[in-house]
Amino acid sequence: MTHILSAVAWPYTNGPRHIGHVAGFGVPSDVFSRHMRMAGHEVLMVSGTDEHGTPILVQAEQEGVPPQELADRYNRVIVEDLTSLGLSYDLFTRTTTGNHYAVVQEMFRTVHANGYMVEQTTMGAISPSTGRTLPDRFIEGTCPICGYDGARGDQCDSCGNQLDPIDLKNPHSRINGETPKFVESNHFFLDLPALVDALAAWLETRDGWRPNVLNFSRNLLADVRPRAMTRDIDWGIPIPLPGWQENPNKRLYVWFDAVIGYLSASIEWARRTGDVEAWRAWWNSADARSYYFMGKDNITFHSQIWPAELLAYDGRGAKGGSAGPYGELQLPTEVVSSEFLNVEGRKFSSSRGLVIYVRDMLARYQTDAFRYYVAAAGPENHDVDFTWESFVRRTNDELVAGWGNLVNRTATMVHKNFGQIPAPGELLEVDRQVLATTSGAFAEVGAQIQTNRQRGAIAAAMHTVADVNRYLSETQPWKLKSDPDRLATVLHTVTQAVSDCNTLLAPFLPHSAQQVHEALGGSGEFAPQPRIEEVTDLDDESRHYPVITGDYSDVPAWESRPLTVGTPVGKPTPVFTKLDESVVEEELDRLRAKA
Ligand SMILES: [Zn+2]
Repeated sequence: MTHILSAVAWPYTNGPRHIGHVAGFGVPSDVFSRHMRMAGHEVLMVSGTDEHGTPILVQAEQEGVPPQELADRYNRVIVEDLTSLGLSYDLFTRTTTGNHYAVVQEMFRTVHANGYMVEQTTMGAISPSTGRTLPDRFIEGTCPICGYDGARGDQCDSCGNQLDPIDLKNPHSRINGETPKFVESNHFFLDLPALVDALAAWLETRDGWRPNVLNFSRNLLADVRPRAMTRDIDWGIPIPLPGWQENPNKRLYVWFDAVIGYLSASIEWARRTGDVEAWRAWWNSADARSYYFMGKDNITFHSQIWPAELLAYDGRGAKGGSAGPYGELQLPTEVVSSEFLNVEGRKFSSSRGLVIYVRDMLARYQTDAFRYYVAAAGPENHDVDFTWESFVRRTNDELVAGWGNLVNRTATMVHKNFGQIPAPGELLEVDRQVLATTSGAFAEVGAQIQTNRQRGAIAAAMHTVADVNRYLSETQPWKLKSDPDRLATVLHTVTQAVSDCNTLLAPFLPHSAQQVHEALGGSGEFAPQPRIEEVTDLDDESRHYPVITGDYSDVPAWESRPLTVGTPVGKPTPVFTKLDESVVEEELDRLRAKA
C-alpha cells in the first residue's frame, strides 16, 4: 500500500470547459485514481478551479461584473460538469478560499526567507495622461514571439508564452489607445538559476515519463532566468511582506498561486476530515508518490515552476535554507501530460464557436460513451482529432456491439434458463482457458494504467472482451437446452468472465460498471461516484461554495472475484444505447451553426 497523490490540473473559471480540456486532465486522472484505489493504494485526488489572473479580469469587465462573481458562476458550472463526468475527486475546491490564500502566502514567505525570491527592478507601464499604473491586462500589442497582434501585457493567447508589457511591439492602452510610458517597477522573481542544478538532478532521476514530456522538461533547463512571480494587477493574492501587502496594484502571479493549489487542496481536505495533519502522508513521506495530470500547454508550470517552488521551500537549492512549517515537501513523481484533442480537423476555439462543451456532450450522450472514446482514442502521445463519425463508430461497434451485447446476452441467458447464477459442473479446457484469459488480464491492464498507457490498457481490456465473445460463439450455450449440466457450466463460466471484464473496465466506465454489476445480480456500490457538497469557507464563515467529494473507500479489489452461486439474476435492460448514424450530420450542423 502506497500513498498516491493524484494531482489534477486546475480548470480556469473564465468559461465552461469543453471536451478537449477534460480529455487532457479529467478522464485520464480519474481512470488512474480509480484503478489505484482498486489496487489497494491510499489515493488522494485533488484539484479545484483556478480563479486569478488577467483573462478572468478581462472577461469580467466585458460582462460588467466583479471578477469574483464571474469566478463563482463558472466554478459552479465546472463543479457540476466534472461531477457528471464521474471524476472521483476527494476534494475539488478553488483558489479563492481563505485556506488557499494562507497556504500560498506561507509558501511565499519561506521561499523568500530562504533567499529564492529576489527583488528586481523592471519596467512597468503607466498611463501618460493620468500618471497612474497601467496593469498588464490593460496593455495590448503585437507578440514579439509569434507576431499575434492581440497579445496582452502578461501573456500571448496565440502562442501561450508569458510576456512582460515592455516586450510587446506597438503597445497600447486598452482604455484609451495611448502608448504607455515605461517607468521602473519593483517585482519579486523566483531565482531559477539558483535552483537549476537541483532541478536537473531531480529530472535526471525521473524514468517512465512520456518521452515528449521528459525531453521538453529537460530542454527548459538550457535557458533559465529569474522569473517574475508578482505582477502589476489588482486581482490575486496579496504579497505577504510589509510594504507590499497593502499595495492594491501588486499581486502574486496567478501561476505562482495556482500550482500551490495541489498542496492547499490537500490541506483543506485534511482540515475538513478533522485530522488536520492527514495531508502529510502524501507530501512529507519519501515513500509517497505523486502524479500530475494536465494538457501539454501546462508542462512548464508543472515540471519547472512548481518543482522549483518546492525545492526553494525545502531549502534545497544553491542558496540552502530550511523548510517552513509544512516540512520538506516531495517533488512530483511524474508529470503526466496529454497532447491536444482537436475537433473535426481544427483546434478548439470558444471565441470562434468551434467548441463542444462538456455539458452539451453529457446532455445528449452517455457519459461512459464519451469516457470510452477519450480512453480508447484520446491524445495520450500525440494530438488527435475528435470527429463525430468516429465517436458514433466507436460507440456502436466497440461499446454497444462488443461489450454491451455480451453483457446483455449473458444476463438474458442466465435469467431465462436458471433465474440465478448456476453452479458449474466439470470445466472443460475451453472453459478453463477463457477464465485464465480474464483473470490473467488484470496484471497486464493494471500495469499499463499504472504506467499511464491508458490507450493500451483499454485496448487490452477490450481484447479480453473479444475473447469472451469468441468463447460464446464456440460453446454455443443456446444449443445446449438438452444438456443442462453443460449449459450450467458454460453460463457460469461466461458470467464469471463477464464479471472479470467488468472489473477491468470499471476505472474507465464507472457508470456502466455499476449497471453491469447489478445486471449480474450484484448489490451495493461497485464503482462509487462523486457528489457535490455545499460547504462553508473554513476561514470565512460568510462564504459558501460547492466542492466535489466522495467516499471511495469501498471499491472492489483489482482481481477476479468468484461469483456466488444462487445469486438471482433478473431480466436485463441494455446498458449502452446504439447511436443513429444521423447523429453525425446533426452534430456537424450544430458546429456550423455556432461558428
Ligand atoms: Zn505569441
